[in-house]
Amino acid sequence: MRVDLHNHTSLCNHASGSIEDYIKKAIELKINIYGFSDHAPMNFDKKYRMSILQSKIYEKNILEMKKKYANKIKILLAYEVDYLHPYILDEILQSKVDYLIGSVHFLRNKNSIWGFDNPKFIGVYKSKNIDDIWQEYFDAIEHMAKNNIFDIVGHLDLIKVFNFLPKKDIKLIALKALKAIKKSNMVLEINTAGLRKPINETYPSKDILELAFDLNINITFSSDAHCIEDIGYKYEDTIIMAKKIGFTKCAIFENRDIVLYEF
Ligand SMILES: [Zn+2]
Ligand SMILES: [Zn+2]
Repeated sequence: MRVDLHNHTSLCNHASGSIEDYIKKAIELKINIYGFSDHAPMNFDKKYRMSILQSKIYEKNILEMKKKYANKIKILLAYEVDYLHPYILDEILQSKVDYLIGSVHFLRNKNSIWGFDNPKFIGVYKSKNIDDIWQEYFDAIEHMAKNNIFDIVGHLDLIKVFNFLPKKDIKLIALKALKAIKKSNMVLEINTAGLRKPINETYPSKDILELAFDLNINITFSSDAHCIEDIGYKYEDTIIMAKKIGFTKCAIFENRDIVLYEF
């Protein structure tokens, strides 16, 4: 079973290609279960996401395509939601989707909010103690897991994107967050977007995935595609890594219920 649960659409204003072209490419790559999880609307960082009005169109379009291609591929409807209070919308948390990916893309920095994965704000990494930045990031992930409002943790160690690494052992920094993820029954995606970024590793890293395996946390697969070429990116390598660690099953969600498949 080939699965790819994290894919965007042009509605977020920083992705290209049509929904139908994404699906055609997924079919070509023999992906069996393909999920759209575009950036959910929120009243912050509005330029890089759909509006609440557009979200209705998004849901309708995906559901139409799900029907149209039902005999070729299973299409799932989802959102990637920013874990950023107080901007999380109840409409999205209560929307009739298959799953919600919870992601941390922003950290609070003094009186401002820092989009730490945006190259424009890369300077902030040098203005603070790097170990503190990493701990703040994983504390946010831990809080997110404890809130238990999402199904999948998006790109768990995104804070490494520009290769600013902590002096402290990453596994120690991440441990409490991982334990909270286990307790909330959230799933970790192995997201290959990191292989297209300066860090050149999957999110999360092999080390963190080994720890997740020991903690009995479920995984799934995602390419975080923002264009046609990203779909299925480095999937074969990722499967080999996951199997080597010991994983045999990957998770999907339908109507917010988990289903496990052998991969
Ligand atoms: Zn995006
Ligand atoms: Zn993301």
